[in-house]
Amino acid sequence: DKRWSLDGATALVTGGTRGIGHAIVEELAGFGASIYTCSRNQQDIDKCIEEWRIKGFTVTGSVCDLKSRSQREELMNSVASAFDGKLNILVNNAAIVVVKETTEFTAEDMSNMMSINFEASYHLCQIAQPLLKASGTGNIVFISSVAGVVALPMLSIYSSSKGAINQLTKSLACEWAKDNIRVNCVAPWVIKTSILSPGYMEKLDGMVSRTPIRRPGEQTEVSALVIFLCLPAASYITGQIICVDGGHSVCGY
Ligand code: NDP
Repeated sequence: DKRWSLDGATALVTGGTRGIGHAIVEELAGFGASIYTCSRNQQDIDKCIEEWRIKGFTVTGSVCDLKSRSQREELMNSVASAFDGKLNILVNNAAIVVVKETTEFTAEDMSNMMSINFEASYHLCQIAQPLLKASGTGNIVFISSVAGVVALPMLSIYSSSKGAINQLTKSLACEWAKDNIRVNCVAPWVIKTSILSPGYMEKLDGMVSRTPIRRPGEQTEVSALVIFLCLPAASYITGQIICVDGGHSVCGY
């Protein structure tokens, strides 16, 4: 059934070497897509690509520090040549977190988080748009966060960067529907990955115990939704921010 397949689709997933991005690459590949990924570490990329090759997945990739505008442009040029100018799926996944009280954040914290988490995603959408349009069926999925929906301690800049992503989802969904590009956003709650420092995880433990489904989520519980949103089966879904959060964001007690 074509509605439940991504056979022949092409995808760019940022930050595919670890955590949620890694799970997204594997799940997309399992549904038949060819994937391009990036991170800041060549060794990690080489190691992942070799493991994926052994599993029979079609994945290529290169180093890109998403903080750099020129490296983002190089990345999209590589994607365009890898996929013959046509991209079906862009997953803006990579992000960083710095945890501090608002009174302690520096100008550098602000520029790092806003440029990697928000500006890079925005710019990748801009330069991917011609490729997404050329493919005939384009999909953008942002990985935002429950932190962009409700307030959490020590995350005011990160939360703002994610709140901006949530709004961007709506703007682009409406602007690019005419180009047959759907734009959606997945907002996870606690997933145990390298992004969470042990100290902050302790803070989150108490909040996880108040989450209706009383456990952290799994990376594959996030990747499953990302894939669903990209499938032809989801063809009428656009502009949505969907929390994968065990009910955390809707629970008032
Ligand atoms: P990880 O830190 O485990 O993985 C992040 C990935 O992004 C790595 O591959 C990393 O590689 C890459 N990356 C980070 N910065 C850059 C950069 N400047 N340029 C290129 N690549 C970069 O994080 P998660 O998997 O946990 O997070 C994935 C997404 O999920 C993020 O958007 C995060 O905000 C979101 N999220 C995560 C939650 C969680 O609890 N884990 C909860 C809610 C949202 P490298 O460092 O080598 O560059």
